[in-house]
Amino acid sequence: MDARLLPYAEKQAPRYTSYPSAPHFGGGVDGARYAQWLGALAPDAALALYIHVPYCKRICWYCGCNTSAEHAGDAEAYAATLLKEIALVSSRTRAKQVAEIHWGGGTPNVLSPQLFDAIMAALGSAFALKPPFSHAIEMDPRSLTRDQIRAYAAAGVNRASLGVQTFSPHVQEMIGRVQPFEQVARAVDELRSAGITAISFDLMYGLPGQTHGDLMETLSRAVTLAPDRVALFGYAHVPWFKSRQRAIAVDELPGAAARFDMAAEAKAFLTAQGYEAIGMDHFAKAGDPMALAARAGTLHRNFQGYVASRTDALIGLGPSAISALPQGYAQNDPAVPGWRRAVDTGVLPIVRGHRLSDDDRLRARIIERLMCDFKIDLADFGGRSAFAAERAALAPLAADGLVVIEGDQLFIPEPMRPFCRLVAQAFDAYTATAQYSRSV
Ligand code: SF4
Repeated sequence: MDARLLPYAEKQAPRYTSYPSAPHFGGGVDGARYAQWLGALAPDAALALYIHVPYCKRICWYCGCNTSAEHAGDAEAYAATLLKEIALVSSRTRAKQVAEIHWGGGTPNVLSPQLFDAIMAALGSAFALKPPFSHAIEMDPRSLTRDQIRAYAAAGVNRASLGVQTFSPHVQEMIGRVQPFEQVARAVDELRSAGITAISFDLMYGLPGQTHGDLMETLSRAVTLAPDRVALFGYAHVPWFKSRQRAIAVDELPGAAARFDMAAEAKAFLTAQGYEAIGMDHFAKAGDPMALAARAGTLHRNFQGYVASRTDALIGLGPSAISALPQGYAQNDPAVPGWRRAVDTGVLPIVRGHRLSDDDRLRARIIERLMCDFKIDLADFGGRSAFAAERAALAPLAADGLVVIEGDQLFIPEPMRPFCRLVAQAFDAYTATAQYSRSV
């Protein structure tokens, strides 16, 4: 890595899965306000549903998600409340057309096939689920059963996103997630046999004890299973936010320069294997909808990261889930007891959010295009004179080659794409008081 770039790699920046980013949400949005927003959706609005399952069989030390270890009865109690929440949300809106369902967590496959079927039946009663629509589920291969796969296939799940992270046994030990290659291979095989043929892998670089060789070996083994998509995330060490990460050996974490080189080598390897680089951390085969969207300039970004299509509204269900409606963002109570209490009393379980201003919307579009396309034309957003302060903030980055500014045109050169969060941050009007993960 060029030594000039090291200070940039060590900077923190939001991942911009929303603008403003979630740490800037406040208490001004509650269940009543969210109900108004839901009520204003047009009947033909296309909806994405995100279902957050807040439990895992075991907790991995590196995890930054809102989840906890499942105990007896948790999954049943969660599903019972979720059914009520689905009915509650649906009763507040005339919008019923579902274009996408995404199950995340946590581990959605802590739910038995029976609980999964019950939730699908509730969604089917509350909304219009007309196939084909995109239906993806995040899975932990360690606990995935054939009965679950059968239930998913019967419900029309058409994308399986497998948490893999690394195939290196010593790194797996250091992150508290031991998962042999054969277990992942078997899950992929069984999913494909059941007709769930779109397979995504989540992999990580920058893990404790992980060397370049470890990462390259993981990638080499991963491609033998031919996933359609690979998401390669840099491990975000944020122990002030996720105390479980205190179990990670900090002195074993690769430094900023090593992380940068790992990401660059991984990209070179995956693109040589026929994957197209998408955004800052995704790779997809040429025919995958995400690759098609990236080529067409229609890639989007939401709380799930990069997505191949835009819907009119994203409705989040389950603890901590965030909804994105035209008027703004609304987040459910992250704590299961609080979420349950609200739903049980017929109240939408919103604890925070953000009402979008016109300025927010403009900046959100700029930041999304930078994160997806790595270029923008300021003429589309009021011209360069409207962004004098932002251009001044970008001047040092431009001097170091991270961004090129020519009149109204801004673009991030290919080798500098890992720094796109820093370029985007110049358009972020919210004071950066929150702590974020490293930009690379
Ligand atoms: S990484 Fe996945 S399986 Fe591990 S604790 Fe987090 S959500 Fe659960």
